Amino acid sequence: MQVAATIADARLAVGRARAEGRRIGLVPTMGALHAGHVALVEECRRLADFTVVSLFVNPSQFGPNEDYDRYPRTLEADLAKCEAAGVDLVFRPTADVMYPRGVPSATFVEVPGLSHVLEGAVRPEHFRGVATVVLGLFEIIRPDLAIFGQKDYQQQAILRRMVADLHVPVAIVTHPIVREPDGLAMSSRNIYLDPAQRQGSRALWRGLEAARRAVAGGESDADRVRQILRAPIESEGEAALDYAEVVDAETLERLDRIAPGRPAVALVAARFGKTRLIDNARLTE
Ligand code: AMP
Repeated sequence: MQVAATIADARLAVGRARAEGRRIGLVPTMGALHAGHVALVEECRRLADFTVVSLFVNPSQFGPNEDYDRYPRTLEADLAKCEAAGVDLVFRPTADVMYPRGVPSATFVEVPGLSHVLEGAVRPEHFRGVATVVLGLFEIIRPDLAIFGQKDYQQQAILRRMVADLHVPVAIVTHPIVREPDGLAMSSRNIYLDPAQRQGSRALWRGLEAARRAVAGGESDADRVRQILRAPIESEGEAALDYAEVVDAETLERLDRIAPGRPAVALVAARFGKTRLIDNARLTE
């Protein structure tokens, strides 16, 4: 496995692979890798011949009062996991490499319509930070395909829109959510949860499952589905609900009715102490 910390080294390694005719796949991450990330890497290895993982805690996607400084950083363990998973190249730039003129004076990419609802309503600059760093990674690696998790549903919707609008020649692949045995979506932030919060966090999955069952059973009133979705979270003492929404799977517009031919997705966010968790489930295909 090759490890590059500079753009020049990363381009050199990818350039060699491309010259050999290999199809390049990229899995962007912020490190603190868990089994969910590894599943993305495995999918990448199935779809591409040269798998690149980026490890970069991106400062521009954290708000001033968010957890940038305390976000877990576990480089040695991450490299070992990448090696074991068969990654070809790890790109692990520093903030100076990605933002040579500093974050405040950087050029930003905005995807306005989709970026200020749901997560974007609570984290106003988050998605422009995500879109900017991902476009930068695309320019550095020039992957044929890039894999993102459904866990961050809004993120993959925004990145799909960005590559369509800017004609970026990369295929975006969305990988299903990888969960703990009790249903909690794997996340690098789960380690912040104390035992009572960890127990309470199952309410997210319970709400999503109940919503999915209701829709499968014929419920089409989106407000009714929202009630079903939020009920277990609201009755969980450890949780403070931020939102429980039912939206169009592509445009993220709030739905009144769940109807055939218009795929719908349920999304939730809740705080457990200082830790904010998000989760989602498709309600219809
Ligand atoms: P992060 O390092 O948290 O930014 O995540 C890097 C990538 O892994 C993103 O595309 C996430 O959506 C994806 N990811 C994180 N957790 C999961 C999970 N539990 N299941 C599937 N994908 C995930």
